[in-house]
Amino acid sequence: MLGGQPVIILKEGTRRESGRDAQTNNINAAIAIAGAVRSTLGPRGMDKMLVDGMGDVTITNDGVTILKNIDVEHPAAKMVVEVSKTVDQQSGDGTTTSVILSGELLKRAKELLDQNIHPTIIAKGYTLAAEKAVEILEKNAISIDSKDKEMLKAVAQTSLASKSSSAHKEKLAELAVSAVNSIVEEVDGKKIADIDNVLVIKKQGGSVVDTELIDGVILDKERVHEGMPRAVEKAKIALLDAALEIKKTEVDAKINITSPDQMQSFLQQEETMLKAMVEKVKASGADVLIDQKGIDDIAQHYLAKSGIYTVRRAKKSDMEKLAKACGGRIVSSLDDLVGEDLGTAAHVEERKIGDDKLTFVTGCPKAKAVSILLRGGTEHVVDELERGLHDALSVVAGTIEDGKISIGGGAAATEIAMSLRDYAASVGGREQLAVESFANTLEIVPKTLAENAGFDQIDLLLKLRKAHKDGQKYAGIDITNGGVIDLYKAKVLEPLRVPAQTIRSSAEAAVMLLRIDDVIAGKGGGAPPAGAGGMPPGGMPPGGY
Ligand code: ADP
Ligand code: MG
Repeated sequence: MLGGQPVIILKEGTRRESGRDAQTNNINAAIAIAGAVRSTLGPRGMDKMLVDGMGDVTITNDGVTILKNIDVEHPAAKMVVEVSKTVDQQSGDGTTTSVILSGELLKRAKELLDQNIHPTIIAKGYTLAAEKAVEILEKNAISIDSKDKEMLKAVAQTSLASKSSSAHKEKLAELAVSAVNSIVEEVDGKKIADIDNVLVIKKQGGSVVDTELIDGVILDKERVHEGMPRAVEKAKIALLDAALEIKKTEVDAKINITSPDQMQSFLQQEETMLKAMVEKVKASGADVLIDQKGIDDIAQHYLAKSGIYTVRRAKKSDMEKLAKACGGRIVSSLDDLVGEDLGTAAHVEERKIGDDKLTFVTGCPKAKAVSILLRGGTEHVVDELERGLHDALSVVAGTIEDGKISIGGGAAATEIAMSLRDYAASVGGREQLAVESFANTLEIVPKTLAENAGFDQIDLLLKLRKAHKDGQKYAGIDITNGGVIDLYKAKVLEPLRVPAQTIRSSAEAAVMLLRIDDVIAGKGGGAPPAGAGGMPPGGMPPGGY
């Protein structure tokens, strides 16, 4: 205070929270977010029904999907949502776990703050613990042969087990393994499995058992004209990114027609131009045309007459996949189209799936593209199946790339927690307390799995700790009978990158939030919720730390 006058530095309407108030609010927000998803964790987790502003319903138990769909206002909560998105991008699974871990880390940090331990000490302890945890995880990881289909299937099934698609996990796991196996490439001696090369097409109607893997590309498009052939063998495919239409003028133009003859010749001229366009396609030798743009009715007629199977308004991503799989080039001007640009496929066919007609391009010589035609009773079922399948594809790809797996069901987490407690002693000082808190945090995984399966979490945790003390490294929660079993034998397996990423990302988020001691929100910005410490606008808050 200068001469008793408060110094106003912030604009009116700005809200500010400092010191413990800011921390407490941020921590509470993160804990609340974790609380929102915790009941969905694991094979016995429940689903959530999300209703958006338009009344659209999503039914899911996928952590990142839940968080993407709920409108989170608090800035700290938004950061936790970002964590789950990062984990999803990096490893494709483990999103719920990462959010639960972030929440628990912060909850335990709050206890340390209450003991007057400075946030930077906690942050340092957490950072050390996370590094050590990943080190222990990597040391305990099991190498596997990436050609071992049974192992890969087990990994896919573990991921699918905790989704509502679990009833069909056998079939979906089998599909995921086959699909990923056919797109694996070796680059500089390293295995790369880019699941973007697996095209997933959803079609409601039918049931999950009708889901099939297609060695090729499926376009969610029918041929444009009934008169075209329904199927083409040994197809030569033109990929065109240009409209077969007469361009409308940019400005309004008026054509004065004074006699019916003039009208006739005007239309004739248009027709001649369109016919010439089709001639160009034909001249290239193509018998299939996949066009990213529109095709005029008259052009459609001539294409049909020439026996060219044509699809219009294809998606750009599908065009690129076709180019890759069939070895063609996407041409953006019709005048450039020549024989060398054409791709090839053994078979192009229109098939009716449910109520829709789709185009199947199979037998692509350059392959490395497969499609999964996902079927299910209703839109909600197919959507959730797709999310489950995405996770399964990601974990199979991750396992092939890493060549290493970790044991799920709380086994790896408990083992790390045990080793971390030993490590804590060597850290010493106040950081030691933070490392111990980190160890205790990891046990939230088996605890929540037990709780969601309806068992006593404390009871199971004690059994689990004892098993690991006795050297049973792979002991985890038996979610069916409530005991502790060897989850390596039970084949509850995850690619190394999933637990590694969840540990890293949740620690980073917790550390970042802990280091914040001031939240300044502009008018209308994502202001912290009212609660502790209402501050006079623009005034300096009462002392922080
Ligand atoms: P996330 O979004 O974090 O992947 P999930 O709801 O998919 O959350 O649950 C994953 C957790 O369930 C992991 O800890 C995994 O090891 C565990 N899990 C999966 N299958 C089993 C099983 N059969 N027994 C025990 N735990 C399992
Ligand atoms: Mg999962």
